[in-house]
Formats: sequence, C-alpha cells, structure tokens
Amino acid sequence: MKIRTKLTLGVGLLFILITLLTFVGARYINALKNDTENILEANYITLEYARDMLMALDEVTADSTAMNILEENLEKQQANITEIGEREATRQLLGHFKMLQANRAEESVHLLIRKDIAEIMRLNMEAIQRKSNVAKQTAASATIWVATTGTLCFLIAFTLLINLPGNIANPIRALTDSIKRIAANDYSQRVYFEDHSEFGELALSFNTMAEKLEEYNNSNLSKLLFEKKRIETLINNMHDPVIGLDENKKILFANDEALKVTGLKPEQLIGQQAQDVSLMNDLLRSLVKDLVLTESTDTQSKKQPIKIFADNKESYFEKEIIDIAIVPTGEKEKRQIGHVIVLKNITPFKELDFAKTNFIATISHELKTPISSIKMSLQLLENQQTGAINEEQKQLIDSIKEDSRRLLKITGELLNLSQVETGNIQLNIQRSTPYEILHYATEAVKTQATQKKIDIQTDVPENLPAVKADTEKTAWVLINFLTNAINYSPEQSRITIRINQTDKHVNFSVSDQGKGIEKRYKDKIFDKYFQVPGSNKSGTGLGLAISKEFIEAQNGSIGVESEIGMGSTFYFNLAVVEG
Ligand code: ADP
Repeated sequence: MKIRTKLTLGVGLLFILITLLTFVGARYINALKNDTENILEANYITLEYARDMLMALDEVTADSTAMNILEENLEKQQANITEIGEREATRQLLGHFKMLQANRAEESVHLLIRKDIAEIMRLNMEAIQRKSNVAKQTAASATIWVATTGTLCFLIAFTLLINLPGNIANPIRALTDSIKRIAANDYSQRVYFEDHSEFGELALSFNTMAEKLEEYNNSNLSKLLFEKKRIETLINNMHDPVIGLDENKKILFANDEALKVTGLKPEQLIGQQAQDVSLMNDLLRSLVKDLVLTESTDTQSKKQPIKIFADNKESYFEKEIIDIAIVPTGEKEKRQIGHVIVLKNITPFKELDFAKTNFIATISHELKTPISSIKMSLQLLENQQTGAINEEQKQLIDSIKEDSRRLLKITGELLNLSQVETGNIQLNIQRSTPYEILHYATEAVKTQATQKKIDIQTDVPENLPAVKADTEKTAWVLINFLTNAINYSPEQSRITIRINQTDKHVNFSVSDQGKGIEKRYKDKIFDKYFQVPGSNKSGTGLGLAISKEFIEAQNGSIGVESEIGMGSTFYFNLAVVEG
C-alpha cells in the first residue's frame, strides 16, 4: 500500500472515530437531558399542582380564595395530562370538584377529591420511577458506546504510532546505507522493499541507477585494462630496451628487449627495487647508477656507449634516462613520479664508425710512405744533389715542403685518432725527464716559430723530478700545444713554456699572446673535429682531442685557461716517479 494511502487511511479513520465519538457522546447526553426534562415537565409539575390542590382543599371551608387556587391548579393539571389513566383520574377530580363547589363543607367530597389527587400523584410518581429507569439505561448504553468508540480510537492510534514512523523511516535508512556504500565504490548494492509503496518505486529507480553505475564502472575498468594492455604491447614491441621505475626506484615494467639484454626473468626484475637487482646484475647497475647515486656528476659515463653481449653478438647502446613528472589533478606543482630508461641501439652506427676508423687508419698509413719519400726527394732537390736550382725553383720546393709537412701532420693525427677510437693506444710508459720532453718539442717547432718571428721562452727550474710517461706521446701533446700557439698567435709575439712541480705532479704549460678562447668553447675544443667558429686555420680539429686521450691514458689531466684578448694557457700534468 502506498505511504500516502496509509497516512490518509490512518488519519482518516482516526478522524471518523473522533467524529463518531463526539456524535455518540452528544446523542446520549441529549437523550439524558430529554429524559430529565420530560420528568420535570410532565410529572414533577403535576406533583406540585397536586400538592397545591391538597393544601387549598384543607383551607376551602375557612378561606374562599382557596377554592380559586384549587380551581386554578385543576385547570393547569388538565393542561398537563401525560400519563395513561391520568385523563380519567383528572376528569373524576373535575367531577368531584364540581360537587365541592356545590357544597364546600361536605367531608365525603373532600375525601373523594383527596383520593383523586392521590391517584394522579401515584400515576405521576410511577412515571417518574419508570422514566428514571429509562434515563439510567440511556446512561449505561452511553457509557458502553463511548468506551467502545474510545477504545477503538486508542487501538488505531496506538497501531499507527507503532507502525507508521518505522514504515517511513526504515526504507529511508536502508536507502541511505546503500547510497553510502555506492559512494564508497561498492556498486553491487541493491535495495528491496516488499510492499508497493512509493519506496518500492524509489528502490526500483535506485537499483537501476546502481546497475548503470556498475556497468559504467566496469566498462571504464575494461577500457583502462585494454589501454594498459595496448601500452604494454607497444612497449614490448619496441626494438629498444625500455625499463620503467617509480619515484622510489622500484621497477614497474621492462619490455622483452630489456629482459633479453639483462638476461633476467620478469619476476627477477619487475616489482623489485633497482638497487637490489643491481647487486646481482652488472648491466642494471650501470643503468641505474646515475639514478641511485643522486646528482651524479659522472658525465663521462653518460656519454660512453654501453657494450652488451646478448644473442651471441655484441651490441652497443646509448642510455637515456627520461624523468617522468606530472601535475596531479587539482594541484599546480609538478611532481616526479618515476623514470624511464631507454637504451638506444646504436650498433649499426658503431659498425659504420668502426669501418670509418679502419678506413682512416689504412689510408693514413698508406699515405705516410709516399709523403715521406716526397720529403726525401725534396731534401735531395734542396741540397742540389741533382743539379743547381734557381730562386724560383727554391720557392716552389719550400712551398711543397710546407704542404708535405702539413700532410704528414694530418696523416699522423688521423693515425693517432684511429688508435684512440679503436682503444688501441700503445703506451710505452717509462721514466722520462721533463727536460727530455721539452727538448724534443722545442726542436720540432723551432723552424715554424722562426718563420713567424715568434720568440719561444722557457721558464723551467732545475732539478725537476722524472715523470711516468710515454715520452713520444707526451712530446706530441706539447708539440701540438706549441703548434697551436704559433698558429693562433700574431707574428713577433711570445710563447712561454713553463714546467713546475706541484706536490706529486709535474705541470707543463704553454702560454701564448693570441686572441684567446671564449669561455663557452673551453670544454668543446677538446672534442673531436671541433674548431672554434671563425678560426680560419686549416687544421683538422683533432689535435686537442688526441692530446686529451694521450694524457688521460697516462692518468694525467689536461685543460686550458684563457680569456678573450688575453691569450691562452694550455696545460697538462703527469705523475712524478716515486722513490
Ligand atoms: P686544429 O688546431 O687542428 O684546428 P685542435 O684540436 O688542435 O685542432 O684545436 C681545436 C681548436 O681550438 C682550434 O681549431 C682553435 O680554434 C682552438 N685553439 C687551439 N689552440 C688555440 C690557441 N692557442 N689559441 C686560440 N685558439 C686555439
């Protein structure tokens, strides 16, 4: 039954019962009132007339007015005949009254009148008695009816009081609970109300809504799962190894390629802490090194390609670490949520690089012999062993000599480069003195300096200790510093070579008065093939790169101090031979 009908019926029934109670009460009260009035009007007044007539009868003989009172009351009695037999009794009284009028003193008439009045009084008293019983009965049934109706009202009101609030509140509570659970993502919630009240309809609507929410949630979930699968497949199909980590360095995913190169099973990698896996896997250690050692400054290792032996072949990879940051919904600041390590397979480039290096090595090696023989032939021509030469021919010979010197320098640099690139630097480390290296270098650049009228000064103390060095390669570096200094300095300037000892190292430096080097190029000039833009000298850009490799291979350090317009000082240092 509907709540509205229930309420209408309950309250309506109460209303009817209250009305009925009022009606019954009023009806019986009215009946009682009528009964009482009836007694008063019909019988009590007659008794009063009878009493007055009796009193007047006593006075009749002595008082003439008594006769009038008697007559008066008799007339009133005649007008108030209510009971059966009262009419005859009154008529008989009237007859006897007439006899009294004829003879007032007649005692027998007195007696007859008294009897008549007594009869009238008896009739009325009996009537009073009877009517009083009727009133009593009316009062009794009034009590019964009022009590019955009252009890009925009470019972209905009591039933409504017990049932109605629960009838309304219980479904509301059940609904509230279900709504709360749905709010907590439990979409399996349903409500059932057995009756067909408004709550039944509400439950039906609620269940439809819950079903739709569940459907929506499931479809979203399956969509998400599908998208996840798609991304996983995408990452798996990438030819480059990819490893994803969260912000706490826990490995979230690794594609098939990553598993192949690390040689680990998915369960050994995924879900593990990167630091833990690093302990047992060298490759992973080198991959996550920069992440685990926070703020690593080892830029060198970042650049170095990683060599991995997998699938029976050597492959080269370049590591790239991508930091993943998002702006969470409702926030403004970016938050780091993890990293992705991508290994770019650079094996094909490496193979090409190897081919290039081999080609350069072969070519430069093959060129060296003919250039040397050109130089020898020039020597013979210059010494006029094949005949006299004129001034013009001499100039041509000088120019060819200069060109072949440069050619020899370039081929030498290229050969050195191929050694460096293949990792085949053959070092002949021995005990050598700084003076020996200095002499070797200054001798080599003497003519070049003289041609440019450059004064090479040396600031070298005595008793310098011996150093651990490959004399030839170290001298090559010093020659390269000096050649550069000559090339990039104006004519008639000065170049100073300084050698001094600092603690356990011997420091070599070459200062010139050239145009200097901009700060931003200070590191770059040690890169292969790099030349400061605008420096129109016909070099290769290889000299300083090879110098760096040579010095670092001997555990020394190399660098430059320079300011634009103030000249440059190139330096390197080597360890002192101990003991
Ligand atoms: P190359 O001299 O063959 O070009 P290097 O590797 O020896 O190659 O030098 C790299 C670059 O550094 C040069 O091209 C030049 O721009 C700059 N450089 C080297 N030495 C000096 C110097 N003493 N003064 C100014 N610039 C220099």
